[in-house]
Amino acid sequence: MADMREPIETGCPDPWQYMHPVMRKNFGMWKYHEHPRPGVLRHVAYSGDEIWTVKVGTQRILDVFTLRKLCDIGEQYADGFVHFTLRSNLEYMVAEASKVEPLIKAVEDAGFIVGGTQNSVTMISHTQGWLHCDIPGTDASGVVKSMMDELIDEFKQANMPNRVHITTSCCQINCGGQGDIAINVQHTKPPKINHNLVANVCERPSVVARCPVAAIRPAIVNGKPSLEVDERKCICCGACYPPCPPMQINDPIHSQLAIWVGGNHSNARGKPTFQKLVAAGIPNNPPRWPEATAIVKRILKAYKEGARDWERVNEWIERIGWPRFFEEVELPFTKYHIDTWRGARASFNASNYIRF
Ligand code: SF4
Ligand code: SF4
Repeated sequence: MADMREPIETGCPDPWQYMHPVMRKNFGMWKYHEHPRPGVLRHVAYSGDEIWTVKVGTQRILDVFTLRKLCDIGEQYADGFVHFTLRSNLEYMVAEASKVEPLIKAVEDAGFIVGGTQNSVTMISHTQGWLHCDIPGTDASGVVKSMMDELIDEFKQANMPNRVHITTSCCQINCGGQGDIAINVQHTKPPKINHNLVANVCERPSVVARCPVAAIRPAIVNGKPSLEVDERKCICCGACYPPCPPMQINDPIHSQLAIWVGGNHSNARGKPTFQKLVAAGIPNNPPRWPEATAIVKRILKAYKEGARDWERVNEWIERIGWPRFFEEVELPFTKYHIDTWRGARASFNASNYIRF
C-alpha cells in the first residue's frame, strides 16, 4: 500500500490516493481529448493509454442511501473510482471503451442522468442554503432542483452554442457564483431591528463595522444599548444580519430574486467578465419558483437561437448589444438597470475600518 502522509487539520485530503491509476500514471501527460457523445469524454495520453469519463447529474445535496447506490455502481461498472465535480456531478472513469455503455445503462436504470459536458447546460451550482448556513434568504437547492427539472434535456443533449454555467446564491453578499446566468437573492427593504435582543446577542462594534455604507450607528433604545439604521443610506445588502440576527432582513415578500447574466472567469483566451443585472423583483416563490425558471428559459432560448457556434452568453450579448438582448428575452429595461450609485467613496470613508 502507498505510504500515507501525516494528516493535517485543514484542507482537502491528498487526491492521489483516490485517483484512477491510469490518471495517476499519465498525470500532466495527456495528448488530446474528444467528446464522443453528450456526457462522455475520452482522454488519450502520450503513452497510448486512454480513459473514458462518464458524467452523471445528481442533486446537490445527497442522502447517504443515494450516495451508496452511486458508489455501488462505481464499484461494479467503473473500476471502483468516483469523482465529484464542483457542480455536484459525479464522474466515473473507466480505462476500456467496452465498459462505457454498460456503465451508462446502469446509471440510467438507477434513475440518474448522463450529460453536462461540452456545449450543454451544466448542473446549476448553488450555495449551501438552509442545510449549513444561518443567513439564507431562499433555499438555493430548491431553486436548482425546480429549474433543472425543466432544463433536463439541455443537460442531456449538448446542443447549446457553447457551455452554459448557471449559478444560484441564497443571500446577497457571500458565496454566490460567477455564471453565464446567475439567480441571486435581492433584499428590497432595510433590516428590522428587534431592540430587546440586540444587547443580549450582538457585539455592536462588529455590526457597525460590517456595514459597507456606514448606515448603522449605536443607539440607546428604551434605555438599552441597541443599534439604529439610517435607511436613506442602507443598500439592503443583508451584511448586518449574520453577526446580528436581531437585525432581521429576510422576508417572504421583500426578499426577492434577481437574475444576472454574462459572468465568466478569465481563461487562456479571454479576460474575466462581470455579471450584469437583467431582471429584478422576481418573487421568491417556493416550492417551484416558476417565475424565475420562466425567465431563465427565455434567456436560454434566445441564446440558443441567436448565438453563433462557440459564443458564450457574454460574447453573444456583446455582439448583439444590450438593447437587442432585452428585446430578444422579452424583459423590460428600466432605470433600475443603470448603476448610478456614486456614494461608495464618501460612505466607505465614513466607516471605522476602511480608509482610502
Ligand atoms: S450564499 Fe449566503 S446564505 Fe447562501 S450559503 Fe453562502 S453565505 Fe450562506
Ligand atoms: S449592512 Fe447592509 S442591510 Fe445592514 S444596514 Fe448596512 S447596508 Fe443596510
